[in-house]
Amino acid sequence: MKKFALIYLLILSALPQNVLADEVNVYSARKEALIRPLLERFTKTTGIIVNLVTGKADALLSRLQNESRNSPADLFITVDVGRLSRAKNAGVLQPVSDPGLEQLVPTRYRDRGNYWFGLSMRARTIVYSRERVKKTSLSSYQQLADPVWRKRLCLRSSENIYNQSLVAAMIVSDGEAATLQWAKGMVRNLARSPRGGDRDQIKAVAAGLCDVTLINTYYLGRMIKSKRQDARAVAAKVAIFWPNQQGRGVHVNISGAGVTVSAPHRENAIRLLKFLLTAESQRWYAKVNYEYPVRAGIAVDPLVAGWGEFKRDDGPLPQLGDFNARAVMLMDDAGWK
Ligand code: FE
Repeated sequence: MKKFALIYLLILSALPQNVLADEVNVYSARKEALIRPLLERFTKTTGIIVNLVTGKADALLSRLQNESRNSPADLFITVDVGRLSRAKNAGVLQPVSDPGLEQLVPTRYRDRGNYWFGLSMRARTIVYSRERVKKTSLSSYQQLADPVWRKRLCLRSSENIYNQSLVAAMIVSDGEAATLQWAKGMVRNLARSPRGGDRDQIKAVAAGLCDVTLINTYYLGRMIKSKRQDARAVAAKVAIFWPNQQGRGVHVNISGAGVTVSAPHRENAIRLLKFLLTAESQRWYAKVNYEYPVRAGIAVDPLVAGWGEFKRDDGPLPQLGDFNARAVMLMDDAGWK
């Protein structure tokens, strides 16, 4: 018996390390349902086992910082360029220069030093009450600060990264002084103090607490496609408006991923990144959450297509990360809670 155990150990130690553990460790701030099936397909195609840790974005980032170079993580997946930039600045990501990856992801959807790459694109736009708002009374993000919307606007809090990035985009396009005036106007127009998530803003408009709000469109997509009748009824009361079509276009953002600074399975992490950027994965990844692919020429879900084509803000996303801290301060100055 002892002899067998010894032989077994000898065989084990003789095997190359990657045969024993061909795996990749993923820390993901995305909901498991939005990523797990793709990871399973990756394993089927490559034989590489994916160990998935799911959690809140900020908690995962702190964990990566604490684990530092000893982290078992290979790939960090999260949403919003503000967060991806924070991860880069916190030193938990490493650059990946890979011509294949650079070709797959348009320049404006990846970090300048290739510390992170966009995986899907989302639009943060205006949603309004079908009952109480005429489409023709809407035009731009800027116009939502006009007195005509007094006590008719609902917003998420300034702690929310989506709004921080939207304000950063305003600073880039309009400058800090104009953006501060705009933010003050938005605060004056609030029907209630900022609270809740994107879905809560949609519910508030549907319930008549306010008439207009700002949301990422996939939240509405999920409600329209919900199994719950009450969610579908709420969604039916609102409509999407694409602002700034004469100017800079609709504010867009990304979900994305970066290889961690520790990455014990760096090559596998890069393989996974590339897999998430294949045409098939892009279609699935965008479709499952009613987002848009980052790669051009890939079909969106019919529901998303039904919302129509729109001009998007083509400014490079990395600069929204650069302006995140300024955006947070500006919102505070404007009294945006
Ligand atoms: Fe979201």
